[in-house]
Amino acid sequence: MENAGLVVAIDGVSGSGKSSTSRGVASRLGLAYLDTGAMFRAMTWWLLRADVDVQDAAAVAARCGEPEIVSGTDPAAPTITVDGRDVGVEIRSAEVNAAVSPVSAVPEVRARLLALQRAVIADATTGGGGIVVEGRDIGSVVAPDAQVKVYLTADPAARADRRAAEEGAGSAVDAAAVEAVRASLLARDEIDSSRATAPLTMAEGAVHVDTTSSSLEEVVDRIADLAGAR
Ligand code: C5P
Repeated sequence: MENAGLVVAIDGVSGSGKSSTSRGVASRLGLAYLDTGAMFRAMTWWLLRADVDVQDAAAVAARCGEPEIVSGTDPAAPTITVDGRDVGVEIRSAEVNAAVSPVSAVPEVRARLLALQRAVIADATTGGGGIVVEGRDIGSVVAPDAQVKVYLTADPAARADRRAAEEGAGSAVDAAAVEAVRASLLARDEIDSSRATAPLTMAEGAVHVDTTSSSLEEVVDRIADLAGAR
């Protein structure tokens, strides 16, 4: 099979269009899809509910082995469950947005989710299929042997506009809301890029794609071409 064993790693800053792009590429090429950000969000959601102080790395490390996190890998309908409960909506809350980066900086959290991520990738690729994996450290740490690596960026203003439009879903988006989203994205980028373990970085061999003035379709085309040319 043409895509047997293919791993496409898509990393990048918050709001660069990673999720839409990754799902689009997976659908186009008939691959599975793994959203690793959703796993970190699911862990964070569970810790908040368990009343763990997310700023206390030792407390987070002590409890992060407890929740059972399961990712569904259909790009048309990705799912995420914690202890059997679908948390697809809850993990996008402002509360989780504010807590996810400190949680993701804890090495024990990363080690636990790394093992889960590698198991999903092995499962998808051993059956003769392939997978698109999106996150911050996929090309550098999770799947350094990925045949295709992409690093997505976009201007902060474009990222904030897109994310605010997604979150406002249909209602008019005002300037103050866009500014709040922009501040939240930049705060997460700062923590994600400066942490000691597996920081956000452009992996060796990655192709940098700036999505500021490209349509989703154009970016998906570009990455599908990279996969085809490998
Ligand atoms: O991709 P998303 O914005 O949903 O990711 C949420 C957070 O999860 C990021 O801000 C980052 O702190 C963390 N994350 C990570 N490593 C990944 C994916 C996400 O640290 N591979």
